[in-house]
Amino acid sequence: MITYETTCFCCKKPFLLKEGTKKYQKFKRNMRGKFSCDACDDKIYMEARKHLLGKLQ
Ligand SMILES: [Zn+2]
Repeated sequence: MITYETTCFCCKKPFLLKEGTKKYQKFKRNMRGKFSCDACDDKIYMEARKHLLGKLQ
């Protein structure tokens, strides 16, 4: 399996992108893009959800 190591823009920690994942495909298309690790993905998702819910109320 091919893996790439990149740095999470959110927590600045290195993490691995594994071949076959959506993030890996995104990385192949734009290697200079911003990528976040799974832990930060969850955090970002939760924040986005909170904002969305806040708007709805
Ligand atoms: Zn992170």
